[in-house]
Amino acid sequence: MAYTEERNRAGEYLRLALTYISKYNLPANPVNYTVWYEYVSGKNIKLKKAIDTSLDAEQPINADNVETLYQKYVADGDRLVISKLLTKIALMLKDITGHVLETEGDLAGHGQVLSDLASQVGQARDYHEIKAIVDQMILETKDLVDSGKRLQTRMKMSTDDLKLLQQELEKSQQEAQTDALTSLFNKRGFEKRFELERIRAKQNELPFSIIMVDIDYFKRVNDTYGHLVGDSLLKSIANLLKSHLRKNDIASRYGGEEFLILLPETALDGATAVAQKIKDTLARKEWKLKETGESMGRVTVSMGIALYRLNEPEEALIKRADDALYIAKNNGRDRIVTQDEI
Ligand code: GH3
Ligand code: MG
Ligand code: MG
Repeated sequence: MAYTEERNRAGEYLRLALTYISKYNLPANPVNYTVWYEYVSGKNIKLKKAIDTSLDAEQPINADNVETLYQKYVADGDRLVISKLLTKIALMLKDITGHVLETEGDLAGHGQVLSDLASQVGQARDYHEIKAIVDQMILETKDLVDSGKRLQTRMKMSTDDLKLLQQELEKSQQEAQTDALTSLFNKRGFEKRFELERIRAKQNELPFSIIMVDIDYFKRVNDTYGHLVGDSLLKSIANLLKSHLRKNDIASRYGGEEFLILLPETALDGATAVAQKIKDTLARKEWKLKETGESMGRVTVSMGIALYRLNEPEEALIKRADDALYIAKNNGRDRIVTQDEI
């Protein structure tokens, strides 16, 4: 939602950002766009304060200073992805403005010629002179119409580009939060969802739990069958986990062979039941190599479960799940441990 709102205002902020960039003669790169975009949008309060202070003190603004501001107040991968796209948008805007100016230039030029011709009509002395004027008028008018058409086509092209860019933006937002191998959320995606669940839990006063799942002896799979089989197993386990979850549950690949599941509106007993079902399914499943059908035997997982405590930071909750998982590993793997057993 925040992103849609941002997109709607993006045009205005970009124009303002561009003004600063050209005012201080800065290179048109993502770093500069991001810093000035965040400055004019007023969303980055610390950055705004820092810039205002140095403007008040009449300190120079140059590429190096802006880079320092960027490192100090902005730098993070997510925003750099966005600002790369913003740079594209800005360049397109410039392009469009260019088309309009250029064509308006054309229009103005033709207009001038036409009005000059109009004043000549009154002074024309013979048929040939009049005919010459009319011929030229026809030419100019035709050029005028063509300019309009050219502008239309160019604007249409730019609008199409913008639409593509919009899609690209949404896609890259999604990609940045998705694990490519399993299509589950990645760590970043999980963190975004976690924040939302935290707010929801507070509003509704409902508990939620997390399950940290780690595949047992996964290294052996890689060592015995190779990395590709390992990857394929990761995918299958991800799907298996998903198949045990409800629509609103959040499944993520949190690390290499480690998954983190968030179960909204679920206390420890509910989460333990889900974990038990996953464990049961795995216990019944014999894994086979796709190519040859050769059996790989069973795969087990260890799981640590923790219940969210209102207002606690994400790390505290994850640490409890991790500690529980550690106990599960130490007690022989293929088991479920909750925070109560820590
Ligand atoms: P444990 O039961 O203690 O969890 O043993 P383990 O072998 O599962 O754990 P360990 O941490 O020793 O090794 C994890 C392995 O997972 C090592 C690493 O190469 C493998 N791994 C991590 N990410 C990927 C991946 O994306 N693809 C594949 N094929 N293997 C991965
Ligand atoms: Mg692990
Ligand atoms: Mg493991």
